[in-house]
Amino acid sequence: MSISPRVLLSIDYEPVFALFRHYDHIRDPKIRRDMDGGFTSRAIDSILDQLGDAKASIYLVGEIAEWYPDVPQKIVDAGHELGLHCQFHRPLVNVDQLADDLRDSQEWRKPFNVQGYRAPMVGISEQAYPLLESFGFTYSSSIYAPAGTLLKKGNMWEIPVSTWRARDAHEDLVAPRDFSFKLLLGGEFPYGSSFSIGFLARRILSIIEEELKRGHSPVIIMHPYELVDSGSSSRLTRDLIRNPHLVPFLWDKSPFLRDLLKSFPTSSLRSYLDETVAVNG
Ligand SMILES: [Zn+2]
Repeated sequence: MSISPRVLLSIDYEPVFALFRHYDHIRDPKIRRDMDGGFTSRAIDSILDQLGDAKASIYLVGEIAEWYPDVPQKIVDAGHELGLHCQFHRPLVNVDQLADDLRDSQEWRKPFNVQGYRAPMVGISEQAYPLLESFGFTYSSSIYAPAGTLLKKGNMWEIPVSTWRARDAHEDLVAPRDFSFKLLLGGEFPYGSSFSIGFLARRILSIIEEELKRGHSPVIIMHPYELVDSGSSSRLTRDLIRNPHLVPFLWDKSPFLRDLLKSFPTSSLRSYLDETVAVNG
């Protein structure tokens, strides 16, 4: 049996500087908070407003919960799912580093009973699943795979970020499956990535429509700086000159979100998972 198809809308809630790998080594919380410059506190009200009655999964970078404790509370009070993106944004494919990061977020996560995890840069290893389970998670959304895929990894579920491909293929979907040339060469288009949305918003809305007609529930990622203007600064200009491939992440995608919410039903990944498990026993 299947449940009603919907868009599984997710927001990886992170500061703008999380885009740039050359800040990964900075650990001083005060410096990091100053670099955010109040953006992640300011953006939340507008994003909750843009979502209206639609429900989403918001995967929070934990340091934001420490800078601004009202941010996770506002997410939950508005009826959205609060998930974990990581404590400090950096690649966490290595399980030892992931274990450290999960320990660092334990305290603030507990009262919110956080169940879902989205790996930074959608990069995860197979060994991460039992580790996530031991930290109280029930699912992850940290690989790319065709919409409609729901994987069981031990006791954990994996709800992949959506790709589209013309032909069916039956292979083991083993992590990592990030946004890479290998994925593209295999004929998969990762339309659930906000990088793709930056280039092909219209086309992606029609792919979503086709997926829903086929009974699939596509998983889409967005970021706060795509929905609320993070403001310009000489530091950001410098960062983008050094990393021109990241420019599409900063294009305004609020019109895309508006069209998506107008056209399709949405839900959090957790509601989708709970309903699916309840229906299938
Ligand atoms: Zn991220």
